[in-house]
Amino acid sequence: MRIEEANIVASLPDLGVELQRGASLAELTSLGIGGTTDLLRIKKHESISGLLGLLDSNGVPHRFLGGGSNLLVDDGELPWVVLQLAQPNPDIVLDGNVAHVDAAADLGRTVTYCAKHDLGGMDGLIGVPGTVGGALRMNAGAYGMQIGSYVREVKLYRAAACQIEILKGEQISFEYRHTSFAPDDMMLAVKLELPSKPYKEILQGIRICNEKRRSSQPLGQKSAGCIFKNPPGASAGRMIDELGLKGLSVGDARVSDRHANFFVNAGKASAKDMLALVAGIRERVHRAFHVELEHEVVIWNA
Ligand SMILES: Cc1cc2nc3c(=O)[nH]c(=O)nc-3n(C[C@H](O)[C@H](O)[C@H](O)COP(=O)(O)OP(=O)(O)OC[C@H]3O[C@@H](n4cnc5c(N)ncnc54)[C@H](O)[C@@H]3O)c2cc1C
Repeated sequence: MRIEEANIVASLPDLGVELQRGASLAELTSLGIGGTTDLLRIKKHESISGLLGLLDSNGVPHRFLGGGSNLLVDDGELPWVVLQLAQPNPDIVLDGNVAHVDAAADLGRTVTYCAKHDLGGMDGLIGVPGTVGGALRMNAGAYGMQIGSYVREVKLYRAAACQIEILKGEQISFEYRHTSFAPDDMMLAVKLELPSKPYKEILQGIRICNEKRRSSQPLGQKSAGCIFKNPPGASAGRMIDELGLKGLSVGDARVSDRHANFFVNAGKASAKDMLALVAGIRERVHRAFHVELEHEVVIWNA
């Protein structure tokens, strides 16, 4: 979608919003799949209300993009514009055991920055790509931990109330790759309360997690991490593996040979290819195990 309305374009500089025409979502997502649309980069949290008001009153739909590491985006010209927070400097400020982190901050850098200041707890998140905002929305987690456990407060834009609000950690429900935020809430910043731990000890935990990832995941290939959530008490990857489906392909979309719940773009996969592969595998797992796998990857259909 291209923003044609002159009143929107003229207001962007005052709002501190940068317009990138015809951005390629294939270049902005870890799967390397997706069509084109206008991208709006927001430099000031305070302008979000004005920007969304302007888009809504002109009938321009939008989606929020973090680091693009959990997205499968449709092909072609997309029927919505994409909003993304620009990274402020600094994006992490420490105050005792509390880290004040902007939603645009890189998650991995946040984990290592806090670790270097003897703040632990998040070792498992090392190697999870994307932003802190995306991690909050998804309640990213690995190796028995999840980001939600450390959230003291979230600053977010509530579209329903048209204002910025602060939610306490206990007001938010963080479940397995699911949170109680409304679909149109935009995460802006978070206060994480982290346990004190010597850097050397945290580093050991980080090294162990890195090694586990390296030995089990197709890290050099384009993917969005796990495609499906694990059903209660089971492993989606194991079910797919047991059916002998590793390596199954539709075009260049392929079930990883290394980890059956990672689907990779082995070349020039289209969204159509990847969606067909995802639907096909889901169907075969259902037939064999009578389990309806739920998507972990967020699908942006046009
Ligand atoms: C190699 C690899 C390994 C991975 N391993 C893990 C893992 O171990 N555990 C895990 O949990 N995930 C994993 N993932 C998935 C992914 O990295 C996480 O889900 C990550 O937290 C997504 O963050 P993002 O910024 O990239 O979000 P995006 O992919 O950009 O967006 C994901 C969703 O969050 C929303 N969103 C993003 N930013 C905001 C915001 N500021 N406000 C409101 N909504 C927002 C988007 O609209 C979208 O719905 C992995 C991915 C890859 C590629």
